[in-house]
Amino acid sequence: MSHPDYPQRVQLLIAGQWRNGESGEERPVFNPATGEKIGSVACASLRDLDEAVQASVRGFHRWREVSAMQRRGLMHKAASLLRERSDAMARMLTLEQGKTLPEAKGELAMAADIIEWFADEGCRVYGRTVPARDQRVVQQVVREPVGPVAAFTPWNFPVNQVVRKLSAALATGCSVIVKAAEETPASPAELIRCFVDAGIPADVVGLVYGDPARISQHLIAAPEIRKISFTGSTAVGKQLAALAGTHMKRATMELGGHAPVIVGEDADPELAARTIALAKYRNAGQICASPTRMLVHAAVHERFVEALVSVARGLRVGDGLEPSTNMGPLANARRLSAMQALTFDAVQKGARLAAGGERLGTSGNFFAPTVLVDAPPQASVWHEEPFGPMAITRSVGSLQEAIDEANRLRYGLAAYAFARDAGQIQQLTRQLQCGLLWINHTAPAWPEMPFGGVKDSGYGSEGGPEALEPYLVIKSVSVLLG
Ligand code: NAD
Repeated sequence: MSHPDYPQRVQLLIAGQWRNGESGEERPVFNPATGEKIGSVACASLRDLDEAVQASVRGFHRWREVSAMQRRGLMHKAASLLRERSDAMARMLTLEQGKTLPEAKGELAMAADIIEWFADEGCRVYGRTVPARDQRVVQQVVREPVGPVAAFTPWNFPVNQVVRKLSAALATGCSVIVKAAEETPASPAELIRCFVDAGIPADVVGLVYGDPARISQHLIAAPEIRKISFTGSTAVGKQLAALAGTHMKRATMELGGHAPVIVGEDADPELAARTIALAKYRNAGQICASPTRMLVHAAVHERFVEALVSVARGLRVGDGLEPSTNMGPLANARRLSAMQALTFDAVQKGARLAAGGERLGTSGNFFAPTVLVDAPPQASVWHEEPFGPMAITRSVGSLQEAIDEANRLRYGLAAYAFARDAGQIQQLTRQLQCGLLWINHTAPAWPEMPFGGVKDSGYGSEGGPEALEPYLVIKSVSVLLG
């Protein structure tokens, strides 16, 4: 079966050619709102991968000679094409991933913004001159692109997970092979088509799909690949980081999270709940920075829960293409069973199910926005990242108790807090072990701000000037003149 708004078969991009894999192998792509097959994606063989690697070497030698200003121009053109094509791309994104059409359009608008920001930042990759001990010597520190990059991205933001890695690589003069998610292949392919159509030379960007473990193993081991970047689960991230270490490859790891939300005694609990609910149920909760563990001061816990439940119950869950839908289906059946198992476990151990907790309908991966109140500490949901539309709340007696609980897990990606007292804000800022902290509001992950985690949530940044560093190597040059 196919869909008029979705490509029949998403192809690979190898050595500047859009083509199928040499073996003809493909994987089906399903619409998570209906469960129907909407298309397929071509799979790369090891020979295809070797060809992609050789192309990326040629691409690197070519691209590093293009000036940063020229690279900037081509990247801005790609961003304009993305904006022009965003209506059709958003439909594809919703069809393959499930998110609502406004969410898909928002993802694409942000992608264009990210490309432009990185393109401009690439013009600010400076070296330095260091005073020498001998007047006849000039000492310089030069920053150069690291080489061909392999980027591995997941299905929750099929375009934006690619665009941060792709833009950082291109802005610094690296070539890049993208292995995007097989479950959501069309929108990343269309993103890359914008770069190709903008005039980025053939070989500079490649796109492959197939067996994720086989591809990552092959590309990370390839001596020509000099850096890898992965976004996905902590379990897979640790495997890939180990492999990168074995082959002495630089690595950026953007992994899982289990974000705490601390609501202080002096916060407005209704405002905090409404603010956090919008962030919680966005993209059906399938966000690494999604707020999940609500640690609310006992004095305001009841009011907070009431307001959170009211938003959760009011959300209309449905096909992302329907204008009335507020929250789409989960992207795949694995998440649906994970939500069911976490709910069952928490309720069995004594949690109060205040909203949702069940699958909606019998086709598609719809799960109701869920609030679990006072789940006991042994409930799995306090320890495992739900990666779905699930919030858990618990009352706490003090700010320190909340901070200690927030820091208890091995994750350290995002954290949120609501407090008015300046001393408490300072305490939260200093003590929370996380890479991203929003206090008294939530906001998109703007490209100009660093984005990344600590502890088991990974290392490296995918935003801000720091995001360019892993794509650059340093050369110390000392010249004796005359
Ligand atoms: P998963 O860990 O199997 O896969 C996550 C992503 O990594 C997928 O896109 C998959 O194709 C890719 N992947 C898996 N094994 C790989 C390998 N050996 N080499 C290269 N890529 C590989 O789990 P899943 O069921 O797809 O997703 C569930 C979990 O993944 C979530 O609970 C969440 O922790 C994590 N996740 C995180 C993010 C994020 O933004 N950090 C995004 C998506 C999923």
